[in-house]
Amino acid sequence: MNKKQKHIPVRLSGLVDGRHELDYSVAPDEIDLPEEFGEPVSVHVDLDKTHSQIALHVQVETAATYPCDRCLDPVRIPVTTDFVLVYAHDNSGSGDGESDIREIPVHDPTVDIAEDVRDAAVLCIPMRRICGEDAEGNPTCRKPIPDAIRAEKQTREDPRWDALKKLDLDR
Ligand SMILES: [Zn+2]
Repeated sequence: MNKKQKHIPVRLSGLVDGRHELDYSVAPDEIDLPEEFGEPVSVHVDLDKTHSQIALHVQVETAATYPCDRCLDPVRIPVTTDFVLVYAHDNSGSGDGESDIREIPVHDPTVDIAEDVRDAAVLCIPMRRICGEDAEGNPTCRKPIPDAIRAEKQTREDPRWDALKKLDLDR
């Protein structure tokens, strides 16, 4: 991601108090998403400005395609997530050090939320990715598991056990 360029710019200055809605559509590679993300990322920002702070409710929608862990068929994973960012002109008064409130940059009050959007989208991808399961928990993969994967699983067994099995322990 080009740090100098703002990919999802949100202007935090010159706004009247109240709600403002913003919509963006960015290419996944523009915000450094992994290549499995192959669809445009749509971002909806619901901005709520009060005299003391600006809250952004950000909704993200896109999809990624990963190979199924069982059969390697492509699995489309819809990504829908949302998060809230809060900005204030001066958060030094909060003092507890645990505040998530960000400071509005004085000289450049247009913030880029691209990194936040990318992180939120990546978190939506589960560790286990399979075509699906039926009510009994059986995989709904259309094809059988390729032999290559089965063979790989077998060779992954620790060969040191074979050596132990060969030892004559009854001696
Ligand atoms: Zn599958």
